[in-house]
Amino acid sequence: MATILFADDEESIRFLYREEFEEAGYKVELAANGDEALEKFIAANPDLLVVDIKMPGMDGIELVRRVRELNAVVPVILCTAYGEYRQNLETWASDEYIVKSANLDGLFAKVAELLERCSVR
Ligand SMILES: [Mg+2]
Repeated sequence: MATILFADDEESIRFLYREEFEEAGYKVELAANGDEALEKFIAANPDLLVVDIKMPGMDGIELVRRVRELNAVVPVILCTAYGEYRQNLETWASDEYIVKSANLDGLFAKVAELLERCSVR
């Protein structure tokens, strides 16, 4: 099963991601900030990243830029609150963009779609 690295500064959201995605059978790695995410990206070699844009210190946009220097192809889903960063063209350097919601159905669908596209089961 695929390994997913989630980077989000909100503990409750990390908890939710772990609960829901482990329940669905994924291997879950969590990071609370961009620096931790880079370390875990290198250590865990995840199949996909889910990245919060707004984090203190290194934000999600910068994190994706740094990840891309290491790996040009790993799929990245950027998450943010509704309306934020829509105008920021760099956002589109990620494969997908999703508006945060307590309902993870949309995120689950995008994860499955991207992993399928990359042939990770
Ligand atoms: Mg945040």
